[in-house]
Amino acid sequence: MNRILENIRALFPALSQKMNGVPLVYLDNAATSQKPVEVLELLKKMNGEVNANVHRAMYELSDRSTELYEGAREKVRQFINAPERGNVIFTSGTTASINLVASSFCRRFLKAGDAIVITADSHHSNIVPWQLAAESIGAEIRLLPINTSKLSSCDYGAKGANCGTSQCVNGELLIDKLEELLSDGKVKIVAATHISNVLGLVNPVERIIKISHAYNVPVLLDGAQGIVHEKVDVQALDCDFYAFSAHKIYGETGVGVLYGKREILEEMPPYMGGGDMVGTVTYKKTTYAELPLKFEAGTPNFIGASSLKPALEYAEYLREPEVRKVLKEEESKIKRYMFNALACEVGDVEIYGVGDDGFESEKKIPLFSFNVKGCNAGDIAQLLDKMGFAVRTGMMCAEPLLDSFGVNSVVRASFASYNTVEEAEKFIAAINRAKSMLL
Ligand code: PMP
Repeated sequence: MNRILENIRALFPALSQKMNGVPLVYLDNAATSQKPVEVLELLKKMNGEVNANVHRAMYELSDRSTELYEGAREKVRQFINAPERGNVIFTSGTTASINLVASSFCRRFLKAGDAIVITADSHHSNIVPWQLAAESIGAEIRLLPINTSKLSSCDYGAKGANCGTSQCVNGELLIDKLEELLSDGKVKIVAATHISNVLGLVNPVERIIKISHAYNVPVLLDGAQGIVHEKVDVQALDCDFYAFSAHKIYGETGVGVLYGKREILEEMPPYMGGGDMVGTVTYKKTTYAELPLKFEAGTPNFIGASSLKPALEYAEYLREPEVRKVLKEEESKIKRYMFNALACEVGDVEIYGVGDDGFESEKKIPLFSFNVKGCNAGDIAQLLDKMGFAVRTGMMCAEPLLDSFGVNSVVRASFASYNTVEEAEKFIAAINRAKSMLL
């Protein structure tokens, strides 16, 4: 194994444990990534030492925790290139960030008869909050569809003996339909997935934003997966909102970020009321704190949020040219191997999310959702678990998307910076074994 990869793996204690008596192969990174030692050390230090409520007290310990909390906000600001810290709101996760916008933005800017566009590849957290808002206002949800056409894996360039037995669902957004959805002027916000947690395809978000802005419609990006795999510059993208979770990018659970443009956030009413989000309070009327605290009612998860500093520093380390080169090479090998091996060596497989440019494309992340014909996805995952593999199975919190493929469950293997081609090879051997046990 390459020295850089070896060093990276050594930073993650969780990777060296055994499950069911065999070494763990962790391939559920799209659900939650493991944490490097720097993050674990920060969490230990804050829980054991720098544990005092932020913003509120006139004593040294509270100053220290506030410094770590606000330092993490500054790190997030730099990482996504937000203009100022006021644009960076800490939440409890992507879900909370989207709920905040769906509730507060829609209350302020939508009326009965208006519409909201969401992308058909959305996670439930980019569907249900908008449905809740739409129902309460009398607004309508419109769907930007995806290409559900299915082709033989040979047509996508898979090479191997049983290639013709496997099928691939394209999964790309039908971006040309967006103008049609916006043209009657009723749409007040577009909420798009940056990278789907089922398909692993990088959506053309720049185009979505350009087209939507031409109709004066702001855009929210669900960046739960996007923040991990793409370099996100919110000013270059010109997105109006960007939502992500810390636990998918090497940080603590229960923490997320909402980036928003100042001029829109200023207009939006607070989402929750309570301590820390106020200016002055009387029994009759309250004025609100400046951004970002206006949207951070109550004691925040200051320890979890502080983990974003070391977590994003690790993510930045992965972008250093020498490291990036090694990781990109490994990722390409993993993608090529997994696609060909699933389609041809395992065979009789249906793969979801390939895209017009195929698996080698930069627009496909190393995430593989599939079914083996005749095998229940849950049964496969259970057998894999016995062999030490952690993968996700089920609806992936994307029931409508799976419905559009005519399935109610998939197996998903999602790779992170610390996964290797050797693990991919072991995974394919394990899938073959599971298949032979089930069929
Ligand atoms: N959107 C996408 C694309 C996701 O992958 C996830 C997590 N699976 C979410 C939203 C929700 O993230 P969280 O549960 O951290 O709020």
